[in-house]
Amino acid sequence: MASAADDVVYFDNNATTPVAPEVVEAMMPYLTTEYFNASSAYERARPVAEAVTRSRATLARFLGGVEPDTILFTSCATESVNAAIRGAVHANPHRRHIITTRVEHPAVLEVCKEMAGAGLEVTFLPVDRSGRLDTRDFIRALQPDTLLVAVMHANNETGVIFPIEELSRLTKETDPEILFFTDATQTAGKLPLDLRRTLPHADMLACSGHKLHAPKGVGALYVKRGTRCRPFMVGGHQESGRRAGTENVPFIVGMARAVELAEDRHDATVHRIRTLRDRLEKELTARIPCLEVNGHDAPRLPNTLNLAVHFIEGEGMLYQLNDHGICASSGSACTSGSLEPSHVLKAMRIPFTAIHGSVRFSLSRYTTEGEVDRVIEVFPTIVANLRRLSPYWDQRHDRPRPESEAMMREESSPAG
Ligand code: PLP
Repeated sequence: MASAADDVVYFDNNATTPVAPEVVEAMMPYLTTEYFNASSAYERARPVAEAVTRSRATLARFLGGVEPDTILFTSCATESVNAAIRGAVHANPHRRHIITTRVEHPAVLEVCKEMAGAGLEVTFLPVDRSGRLDTRDFIRALQPDTLLVAVMHANNETGVIFPIEELSRLTKETDPEILFFTDATQTAGKLPLDLRRTLPHADMLACSGHKLHAPKGVGALYVKRGTRCRPFMVGGHQESGRRAGTENVPFIVGMARAVELAEDRHDATVHRIRTLRDRLEKELTARIPCLEVNGHDAPRLPNTLNLAVHFIEGEGMLYQLNDHGICASSGSACTSGSLEPSHVLKAMRIPFTAIHGSVRFSLSRYTTEGEVDRVIEVFPTIVANLRRLSPYWDQRHDRPRPESEAMMREESSPAG
């Protein structure tokens, strides 16, 4: 029997991904017969504890062959982020300055704002029109009092990748005492993450299962050996006393299986996703006037396409895409549903005529050519129809009103 999901054309994989069937299969025993508590002393619980140990080893290998005891399982990336930032702040009371960026996920931004409210100094670094950080701004921000740098690996809305290899190296060259944390929630499974070879200067890294075809409700935090970081969740002695709470064994096993699947033919899979994304981008930009790719000048994730569609509302586009069974997003999952313009696009100074009209398509290894064709077929018509209702669009000539076009040009020019 066909399920409702068969009708869905799913382009919102940066919000969450479908759970892989192999992941469900790997989890099933731990949801049924192997329900024992991993901390219990009796014989029947031993395979459950061993499954957690194996899963930790898989994550450690996936992150570049780090020591398994540097991996903590958490409930989600938000918990991992909270554990990293709050843990670092509590363990280092002699320093009072944090560096982050204006385009982080709310998981990071809100904790940093809370820290600022509690009297710490927080530098929120700006980005340019393409969403890039200026390394000179970063170097200038480092102070003798800096305790933590929290910079994401890739942006969930635009897919723009930050040079965290360089930023972490610069941090440690300036002062090895400064802790470097990166939120790699959007890169795990999409870009290689090698904490030994390419990211040896990162002290902490967060990721989440549900962005790479594991279920929602499991995440991981890497904490390099010797890092000054106090436990965030206190209680029992699980995770060597560094993250209390009974281990969510089925989900931990699921996350490890998802990671194995992501490693399997990784380059070929990523190449296929990038090819589909590039075709979608090329066809839509060719068919729709006054359309920009947000972050087009910057290195971007292979699966993400964020479009600034001038002179219309993102919500209208989403509703009409929805009518065609297509799921996309107008911002990050946590901000969609509210009409507040995205803080990421605001930080990039996307012009007024487009900031409400941005839409994100994010692909996964399950995205098919037919689905890409479907978006190419329906999206230009949706845009054309909505523009006919826009006060900024000239219906007679099917182009922006001259004064709106001038406004778009003016606002796009770099600020002085
Ligand atoms: N960080 C980034 C970059 C994200 O994209 C997300 C989710 O969208 C999170 C953190 C939060 O992840 P979780 O839902 O696992 O808490």
